[in-house]
Amino acid sequence: MNEKAAVMGRPTYIRGWLRVLLRVGGCLIVVMCSGQNGYGDVPPTWVLEVRLPSPESARQLVEMGLTIDNVTRDYAVIYADASERAAVESLGWPVRVLEIQPAPTEEKTVDGYRDSGDIAALFSQWTSVYPHLCRAYTVGYSVQNRPLLAIKITSNPDVAADKPAVRYIATIHGDEPVGTEMCLNFAEWLLTGYGTDARVTRLVDETVCWLLPLMNPDGLVARTRRNANSIDLNRNFPVYALDFSGPWTPGGLLNTAGREVETASIMEWSASERFVVSGTFHGGSLVANYPYDYEPGVPSGVAAISPDEDLFQYVALRYSMYNPDMYASTQFPQGIVNGSAWYSITGSLQDWSYRMFGTLELTLEIGYTKKPAISTMPTYWAKNRDAMISYLETALEGVRGLVRDRVGGTPVEAVVWVEGNSQPVFSSAAVGNYHRVLLPGTYAMRWEAAGYIPWRQRDIQVTEGPATRVDVNLSTGDLNGDNAVNASDIQISVNALLGEGSPDAADVDGLGLSITDLQWVINRSIGKTAAPTG
Ligand SMILES: [Zn+2]
Repeated sequence: MNEKAAVMGRPTYIRGWLRVLLRVGGCLIVVMCSGQNGYGDVPPTWVLEVRLPSPESARQLVEMGLTIDNVTRDYAVIYADASERAAVESLGWPVRVLEIQPAPTEEKTVDGYRDSGDIAALFSQWTSVYPHLCRAYTVGYSVQNRPLLAIKITSNPDVAADKPAVRYIATIHGDEPVGTEMCLNFAEWLLTGYGTDARVTRLVDETVCWLLPLMNPDGLVARTRRNANSIDLNRNFPVYALDFSGPWTPGGLLNTAGREVETASIMEWSASERFVVSGTFHGGSLVANYPYDYEPGVPSGVAAISPDEDLFQYVALRYSMYNPDMYASTQFPQGIVNGSAWYSITGSLQDWSYRMFGTLELTLEIGYTKKPAISTMPTYWAKNRDAMISYLETALEGVRGLVRDRVGGTPVEAVVWVEGNSQPVFSSAAVGNYHRVLLPGTYAMRWEAAGYIPWRQRDIQVTEGPATRVDVNLSTGDLNGDNAVNASDIQISVNALLGEGSPDAADVDGLGLSITDLQWVINRSIGKTAAPTG
């Protein structure tokens, strides 16, 4: 607790930095200055393999509140401190020590894996060679003051455009660094392939692709899962029903207080970019894991079904089907799994991203060995490259469009709902663009923003391939554009209903011109924001 209290002042500081860095839009790299290698007096963590008497026994470990990393039919891998280790051993099940973290070491390199310094150097090189395609950012700092470096890859990188933001994050667990190499390889592939490879060119032109290759730089150097405060960052995000009760609202607060600095930085960055699809890389298993990891009342080992369960299966398959070993898994059919059906955890990045912003976020376990020899990276890359691009391309499917003010044409930050689905997405304040990934079908949707009359549209057809475009012009009830809702607007609405004037201009709720539109305008003229009744 003391360690947590010691860093509580940081999120505000980071927030300030983030604002500055993201808005400057330039190439900003902060080179790592810390040479620390170990975690000082942090107590040891044991990595334990626990043999399970039955497949259902894993639930008992979850209920003990342990940090579980992996569960198979026969065993679980857990990260335990001394008292947790004693508790596990008291169960009487066979326990084997796999590793003790932090590992005592005098080595200065991280077994050939690239660290913050290497990444800073690469980003600096790329931003100078490809200034038309990328920008580098520091989205925060670790406990030991190493930068959390991100690169944004898109054509015209300084222009906010109608493109979905997509993302990969790696090494949230410091002892699972393969994803860092995958992110760096992916960035290089996009930059070098732009203009020659059609698929790469399309992704770079039509999305804003962000890569944050190393979320836990202290853990990488110390060879530990956890950060330098001995906190598991993928258990540190706000927990639904405990720390927050529903999706974000425009203008709302994120509440980063008390989070680890790495977690708070990722939260601020997520709020700023509204990622449409995102994946975070892990090691220790081979599966594309999708939300929910946790739903109140659903026991570990039972699927926790989100409103987008079918969609999540589809996008997870878009990853696994291009990773042949993952798809051929004998533990997980087709290489995908609902997080809670595997084993439930609280405080995961994927649950928070999805529940807060509607981001389709996957936890991508890309190998049974957490830290294989660096010489095997070309093999890993060959097995993940097409999966990585295929998954991000799903951001271009479903329904997309611009939400604007009907009178001024300015972008509107709106909440975008699919009727019958309780998880919204959001349009951006800067451009007004929204991107709602959906499976092929027919949908009704609703757009809501403070001060505006909600807009609804039915019979929206989604087919395979590029997203259906639905642009929306929201009305405040001000039909004549004089910046007030008053008697003259009511008169225009009445006239339209009598067949004098444009019916479209007086249709303020998207459902065709009717008496309801007049009621909306009357209500707004007297300051009522509720929907007309009757
Ligand atoms: Zn992990």
